[in-house]
Amino acid sequence: MTTSCDVAIVGAGLGGCFLALLLGRSGRSVVVVEQGTAIPAAGADFVKRPGMAVLARHGLGSLVERHSLKRDIVRYYHDGEPIQECRYPDGFLIRPYRELVEVIYSSCAMEGVEFWFDSRIESLERDGDRVARLVLADGRELRPGVVIAADGTRSMVRQELGITKETTSYPHMLRVATVPLTASVARLNRLYFNSEGWFSYLYPVNEEQARVFVGLPLEDDDEVFGHGLLVDALKEFVTENDDAYDVLGPAHWQKIPVAAMRVPVYHKGNAALLGSAAFACHPMTGMGMSYTMHDAEILAGIICAAEGDPALLEKGLETGYEPRRHAHGELIDYGDALSGTFHDKAAYLDVFREDLHVFGDTEPIGDGYVRVLR
Ligand SMILES: Cc1cc2nc3c(=O)[nH]c(=O)nc-3n(C[C@H](O)[C@H](O)[C@H](O)COP(=O)(O)OP(=O)(O)OC[C@H]3O[C@@H](n4cnc5c(N)ncnc54)[C@H](O)[C@@H]3O)c2cc1C
Repeated sequence: MTTSCDVAIVGAGLGGCFLALLLGRSGRSVVVVEQGTAIPAAGADFVKRPGMAVLARHGLGSLVERHSLKRDIVRYYHDGEPIQECRYPDGFLIRPYRELVEVIYSSCAMEGVEFWFDSRIESLERDGDRVARLVLADGRELRPGVVIAADGTRSMVRQELGITKETTSYPHMLRVATVPLTASVARLNRLYFNSEGWFSYLYPVNEEQARVFVGLPLEDDDEVFGHGLLVDALKEFVTENDDAYDVLGPAHWQKIPVAAMRVPVYHKGNAALLGSAAFACHPMTGMGMSYTMHDAEILAGIICAAEGDPALLEKGLETGYEPRRHAHGELIDYGDALSGTFHDKAAYLDVFREDLHVFGDTEPIGDGYVRVLR
C-alpha cells in the first residue's frame, strides 16, 4: 500500500511531534513513523527559557506549565561547599519527557497528523539526491514531498542519506534513578561536583518523586555500583541533601549513554535532520530540547514557504537551516568545556557561561544571573 503525503517524519520524539504539529496546523499532510508502540518514555526533564518561549509562541505555554514544576535557582557545590547560584529570570520548567511530548502529540490529533506506531523504516529509495519513497518493514510505502529524520542519535535515515557523524565520548558514566521526594530536594535544585571528577544533580520531578543523576569516572562505575559503595561515596560531597541518602541506596540506577555528536550537513535533497539526529551535546547544558523546538519552527517555516517546490525547499534549507549548525556547535563546545572541568572548581567557574546556560542562543536580558558564593 502506498501513501502520499507532504511531509514524512521519522521519529515521534519531541522534535518529530513538535514539527508535525506546526506543519499540521499549516494544512500540510503529515505522517509520523515511529518504531515504538507509543511516544518515547525516556528523555530530558528541563525546558529552559528559549524552549518556553517557543512553546508560548505556539499557544502551548500555559498548557505545558499547568502540570510542570517551575524553579528559578540552581545552587552548585564543589567538594561539598556551595560555589555559585544560577538564577533564571523567568524560571525553568521541570516536566518528565513523556508528559511533555504527550501534550504536543495530543495537540497533533486536532490537526489531522497521522501517526504510524510500531512501524519501522526498512529502506529509502532515492531519485538522485531526493528521497522518492520510504519502504516500511511491514511492506507499506510512503511517497513524501519532504522527509524529516527525527529518529534520534543513531538515526537510520541519516545513515541511509550517507551523512556521516562525528561522536565524542565523555570520560564519565552517567547513571539516573527516580526516587521518593525528600524535603531537601523539594526545597532547591542542587548540583554537586568533586575533585575526583564526580557529579550529582538532585531535583524534584513532581510532588512525590525526585530524579537523581550521578556521573563518575568510567573506570569507577563497576566497582561503585557492583559493590554497593554509592551512598558512602556521595556522602563525601553531596551535602545539604542528607535526607536523600536513605532513598539512594535501594534505587534502581539506570546507565545513560552520553556523547557529543556533530554532522557536517543537515540536509540532502528533500530530506533534513532534526533534534538528536542532527546534534547531541552534554546534558549538563540542559538546552537540547529548547534548540530542537526552535529548529522545528525554522524547518516548518521553510517547508511551508517552499509550497512543494523542490528548488525553493533546497534553497530554504541551505540558507535558513544549515546555519543552525553554528548555534549547535557553540552549545556542543560549551557542554564539552563544562564536562572537562567538573573536578576543578576554578576552571568550572571560568568556563560557565550564564548567557548560554540561561538564555541559550536567544538575546540575553541584562546580566548578573550567576552569583559566585565562594
Ligand atoms: C541524559 C540526557 C539528559 C538530557 N536533559 C536535557 C534537559 O534537561 N533539557 C533539554 O533541553 N535537553 C536535554 N537533553 C537533550 C534532549 O533529550 C534531546 O534534545 C531531545 O530528546 C531530542 O528529541 P528528538 O525528538 O530528537 O529525539 P528522541 O526523543 O530520541 O526521539 C527519537 C524517536 O525516533 C524513534 N526512532 C528511532 N529510529 C527509528 C526508525 N528507524 N523508525 C522509526 N522511528 C525511529 C525512536 O523510537 C524515538 O521515539 C538530554 C539528553 C540526555 C541524553
